[in-house]
Amino acid sequence: VLYNFKKITVVPTAKDFVNIMLSKTQRKTPTVVHKHYKISRIRSFYTRKVRYTQQNFNERLSMIIQEFPKLDNIHPFYADLMNILYDKDHYKLALGQLNQARHLIDNVGKDYVRLMKFGDSLYRCKMLKKAALGRMATIMKRQAPNLVYLEQVRQHLSRLPSIDPYTRTLILCGFPNVGKSSFLNKITRADVEVHSYAFTTKSLYVGHTDYKYLRWQVVDTPGVLDHPLEERNVIEMQAVTALAHLRAAILYFIDVSEQCGHSIAEQVKLYESIKPLFTNKPLLVVCNKVDVTPMDQLSEASREALSIFEKNNVPLLPMSAVTDEGVMDVKQQACDTLLAYRIENKIQAKKVDSILNRLHVAV
Ligand code: GDP
Repeated sequence: VLYNFKKITVVPTAKDFVNIMLSKTQRKTPTVVHKHYKISRIRSFYTRKVRYTQQNFNERLSMIIQEFPKLDNIHPFYADLMNILYDKDHYKLALGQLNQARHLIDNVGKDYVRLMKFGDSLYRCKMLKKAALGRMATIMKRQAPNLVYLEQVRQHLSRLPSIDPYTRTLILCGFPNVGKSSFLNKITRADVEVHSYAFTTKSLYVGHTDYKYLRWQVVDTPGVLDHPLEERNVIEMQAVTALAHLRAAILYFIDVSEQCGHSIAEQVKLYESIKPLFTNKPLLVVCNKVDVTPMDQLSEASREALSIFEKNNVPLLPMSAVTDEGVMDVKQQACDTLLAYRIENKIQAKKVDSILNRLHVAV
């Protein structure tokens, strides 16, 4: 099932919902009935109104229930994100109760259509119709909080970052001011979208680029992957784990000029602290700002700090987002690495899950 998160129809308030239904019945069903009509004609006049109202309630409720994504059917990235944002249990309950309301209204419809067969006067039939519609309205009004909640979710979903979990992704991380957004702007089209991540004050930047006839998305996560995991709150932590579901290569940015205000050793330390999240992802380290500090002019201490990457077979890619040196190389290597990358077996995927679980427990 493919959901369009951005195109869910507006969810009316309970009051509006009821008004829309009742006025539709008024407009779309016959309005003239006379006492001297045959009783069968009078009964069918009112039966029609009850049925029509019930069907409209049913259709509109079905539409809401169907348009909102089912958490069990969607990509785990979105399932995680929605769970963080809207609380899975609350969300499921709201949709479940709307579904129940739909059944109740159907039953009211059936019951009163049956009762109508015993209506022996225009007055009685009219009262039965009135009671049926009144009961439907009452059932609907009890859904008021659920409708308000779902409308909030809808509005929020429409503003969610348009990350496509099925598209190959490059995730940029590293301390602030190391050159991530400069790189993002260099390699993506002029369509970088800024999204607020709602649950924190943080934003997410998503740009797109092409490589080997494929569409790629490049995600910069300022404030999300730029400080040690231990310092995160639960919400931030979950935002990070949502990212872990993407098919992505990680580009860890190091500012070799140290102009960002952190020594290379500190930057390596941050890398070490967020590394557990990258267990199932190919990783490249970008050594940015080589126009300021070329690789062969690094201090002994910096070389020593960087040596752990070489030991672990993590490539170090020199780059300057100012002179463009190495920019295309970084993009190509990152994309090629991801294309060649396969999760070797399920055991590894399980390992990741257990790591993520432990991290959740730790915060
Ligand atoms: P971000 O916070 O990691 O996204 O970093 P930015 O891309 O905003 O870059 C921070 C600052 O570093 C900006 O003033 C950039 O102009 C500068 N910068 C980025 N890349 C380079 C580079 O390769 N060389 C130099 N000299 N400056 C750079």
